Amino acid sequence: MRVLIIGSGGREHALAWGIAKSPRLEKLFVAPGNGGTETLATNVPLDITDHAAILAFAKTEAIDLVVIGPDAPAVAGLGDDVRAAGLRCFGPSKAAAQLEGSKGFTKALCDEMAIPTARYARFADEPAARAYLRAQGAPIVVKADGLAAGKGVCVAETLEEAETFLHECFTGAFGASGASVVIEEFLEGEEASLFALCDGEHFVLLESAQDHKRAFDGDKGPNTGGMGAYSPAPVMTPEMLERARREIIEPTVRGMSARGTPFTGVLYAGLMITPEGPTLIEYNVRFGDPEAQVLIPRLETDLLELLEATATGRLAEIEPIWRPEACVTVVLATKGYPGPVGKGSEIRGPDAIKADDLIVFHAGTRRADGRLLANGGRVLDVTALAPTIAAARDRAYAAVDRIDWPQGFCRRDIAWRALQRRD
Ligand code: AMP
Repeated sequence: MRVLIIGSGGREHALAWGIAKSPRLEKLFVAPGNGGTETLATNVPLDITDHAAILAFAKTEAIDLVVIGPDAPAVAGLGDDVRAAGLRCFGPSKAAAQLEGSKGFTKALCDEMAIPTARYARFADEPAARAYLRAQGAPIVVKADGLAAGKGVCVAETLEEAETFLHECFTGAFGASGASVVIEEFLEGEEASLFALCDGEHFVLLESAQDHKRAFDGDKGPNTGGMGAYSPAPVMTPEMLERARREIIEPTVRGMSARGTPFTGVLYAGLMITPEGPTLIEYNVRFGDPEAQVLIPRLETDLLELLEATATGRLAEIEPIWRPEACVTVVLATKGYPGPVGKGSEIRGPDAIKADDLIVFHAGTRRADGRLLANGGRVLDVTALAPTIAAARDRAYAAVDRIDWPQGFCRRDIAWRALQRRD
């Protein structure tokens, strides 16, 4: 098969790494890719918002499967355009991508299908929203309805904080994404990410994972795209997995199909495991980054076969098999991230780290004159498999310490929750 992956992050390098292992792969392209993907695929300098350019390339190269990595092209309808051109695509339709593109859409589906989620109200004007906030009190959570690059959520400990954020939403801080807001009850518990491949009618659960959103150790500092992850997440016990399947994923797949907008691709449920059980915080319509980096190395089954079965409605025939090892990834970011960062500093060492169960996935990197250069905020994902989470964590940090990059930093406590449970 000839495959084109869309995206340039650590998630897309992990997808490329998994697909490249498939005996069924004939040729792999990544658009635009990064300094890691170019070692196992051909990077193509395409603008991923230019759907016509992507389709033209896919036709010229006789691509058999387009794999959409990030959320933005999925929400922009690239999946529809690819399928309309007669090509196969791993990724949702624009209508189904509303599960990530609109928090109000997902809340309405939860109401319709009795899916457990935080109590909420949705508002399109500030005075009504403020009155509701005051009636509810803090702690409370305020969310811009649309995509806001991970910045559209305020978990407010005080009413003042909530009102300030609300005002920002209604005065254009998030553009059209903030024209409507969802205000919801604060949920207490431990978070976990659960992934399901869906072909519109059937789904298969993948393993669970947990990421680390805050920039610094001890879950301190600003929110980021994710500073590390591990899989499996011990909080997702077999009982919780079964409940999440029955109470959340299954009714979502059924509800989307009944509405005439079946979901295809990967459904990523952000869950809060509360004393009452699994509760849906949000849906994403793509793999998590960095969760993909700990899921894909654990997969025994051919990833390309799974993605193709998802795209062609054949998931009922497949049950993925997992390696028994745990996996941990540690993100190395440029100092200053998630704020503005400098580009171009040299990184030494990653290319020497290579084993079946120790992988350095690249995110913001590029190569020039034989040197590896930082090219963004999150730069590398140092990923290790081992029999336990503790051993995988130790292996990942031992590899991190072999990387010479004074301009970078990482968290030193990835997987602390899982390790605390086991101590
Ligand atoms: P979201 O973009 O909806 O996933 O929200 C981002 C983060 O805000 C989540 O990963 C949670 O840590 C937190 N969060 C969102 N909604 C709630 C809630 N209802 N209660 C507690 N924390 C929340």
